[in-house]
Amino acid sequence: MAMLLEPFGDLAGFVCWHLWPGMEFGARDFWWSRLPAPQGDQPPARRPGRHEGVDLHCYRTVTGDLKFVEPGWLVTAPAAGFVVHTHPDFLAHSLYIMHPDIRWDDRVLYTVYGHVCPEMDPEAGQPVFPTTPVASLPEPVPGSAVPLHLHVSLAWIRQSFAPKKLSWKLLGDPGVSLLIDPARFFRNAPERFL
Ligand SMILES: [Zn+2]
Repeated sequence: MAMLLEPFGDLAGFVCWHLWPGMEFGARDFWWSRLPAPQGDQPPARRPGRHEGVDLHCYRTVTGDLKFVEPGWLVTAPAAGFVVHTHPDFLAHSLYIMHPDIRWDDRVLYTVYGHVCPEMDPEAGQPVFPTTPVASLPEPVPGSAVPLHLHVSLAWIRQSFAPKKLSWKLLGDPGVSLLIDPARFFRNAPERFL
C-alpha cells in the first residue's frame, strides 16, 4: 500500500514524529497521565483497551527542536476517498474517511481522525484527495488534562458495513475492524522515548 500519512501536509523543518510512551499504536497507558494535571480530576492512567492508533502531539525539526501541534492547523486526507461519518468524541469530533480504491478482500481502508473540528460534511458525498483539508485542530478544552493532539487510526473495514454505525467501540472490535499501525505510513520512523 503506497501511501504517506502526513495529515498536516509538508511541515516546516519536519524530521519525524516524537512519540512518548502511550502515544503509540497498541499502547496500554494514557500518555497524559504522566503530565501534571492542570486542575480537576486526574485522568485514569490505564486505557480501557489498546490504543487504536497513534497520537500526534509534537515532532522533531531539523534544528533539533521539538515543535508542538497548534489549534487551527488543517488536517488533510492521506489518500483519495470520501468523508463518510463524524461524531462527537471526548475532546472534539471524530471523522471517518473511506478509501474505496484501497481494498483487501472484502474490506476497504478507512482513515479515522480523532479530536478534530470537521471541515467536510459527510452528507455532501464530495470526493477528497491527499491535499484536501477535511478538519482542523480545535482550541484545547479549558481545564482538560489532555493536551492538544491528533489521533490517527487506519482500519480495514468490511465494505458492506454501514459507515454511519462506526464508533470507537466498533473500531476496536476485530469482527468489524482490523486496525493497522499508522506509523508504518510515516515518511520517517518516529522517535520513541521511554
Ligand atoms: Zn489516541
